[in-house]
Amino acid sequence: MKVARFYAPGDIRVEEAPEPVAGPGEIKIRVRNCSTCGTDAKIQKHGHHHIKPPRVMGHEIAGEVVEVTEAGGWAPGDRVQVIAAIPCGKCAECRRGRMTVCPNQESMGYHYDGGFAEYMIIPATVLAVDGVNRIPDEIGFAEASVAEPLACVLNGQELARVGEGDDVVIMGSGPIGCLHVRLARSRGAARVFLVDINAGRLEMAARLVHPDAVVHGEDVVEQVLKLTDGRGADVVITAAASGAAQEQALRMAARQGRISFFGGLPKDNPIIRCDSNLVHYRELTIVGANGSSPAHNARALRLIADGSVPVADLITHRLPLTEVLEGIDIVSRGEAIKVTIEP
Ligand SMILES: [Zn+2]
Ligand SMILES: [Zn+2]
Repeated sequence: MKVARFYAPGDIRVEEAPEPVAGPGEIKIRVRNCSTCGTDAKIQKHGHHHIKPPRVMGHEIAGEVVEVTEAGGWAPGDRVQVIAAIPCGKCAECRRGRMTVCPNQESMGYHYDGGFAEYMIIPATVLAVDGVNRIPDEIGFAEASVAEPLACVLNGQELARVGEGDDVVIMGSGPIGCLHVRLARSRGAARVFLVDINAGRLEMAARLVHPDAVVHGEDVVEQVLKLTDGRGADVVITAAASGAAQEQALRMAARQGRISFFGGLPKDNPIIRCDSNLVHYRELTIVGANGSSPAHNARALRLIADGSVPVADLITHRLPLTEVLEGIDIVSRGEAIKVTIEP
């Protein structure tokens, strides 16, 4: 079968590999869609300390069961979506239900071979934490593969308590920003504003997700304050690896506003300046977001299937596995919303 394997930064190879065999308690799937995101672009450029090469990449996975060794409720032909982040299910955080911050977390495409392959093994560790979801009949594999990034977005908006009547600002108009706009609407946000420094990408995103206003330029804080009659936004979500965006987010939040540092910052430059008195007097809440739990994946898949968060139109590129490098380049250049690989 064909796979796309990471060997080193800048060295991802599409090559032949033997078909994997399911061991005890594992499931083998025929991968139908594995979507790409900024994480794949980051791995391509810098690698990742959890990836021991060579490793099949790809973590936004949907496919069809072809082989099961112990039934466990699954049978050949079942259409499934697979989690990317795998909590251990046993540590103090997992036992408290805080699976997104499990210190023993592993990941598909990092610790286990991922979905940029014709066939893939779902490891027992995934099955142990209910990490496989049945894809509802209403949606296809490509849409189901977007459940994983939507699950992360859902975790972020739950932590930031996005809800009825909120004015929400999303900073960053990539695929994650687009999902944030759609999810905020489905959670009852009053208005959603989309911010980006890249005018072309902002325009492309706005055509799809129709924010109430787009904001770009030097004075984004002032523009948001103007749009909200000087109040600021109830929730500001930074979906960009930008310290400047995080600093602006703090300044455009309303009293009792919540700020989600959804996107992480580069490891070598993670320090920002924060006016602590803004946080103090305005009673701001700053929250992080680290991936998603298996339960978030299940709920995200339902949100897609029941039409609460449509994603089909966000999938702008469908490429065969042989063109996965081109797909990752398209993501790096910010020319696509969502690129999905069809192995
Ligand atoms: Zn991803
Ligand atoms: Zn754990």
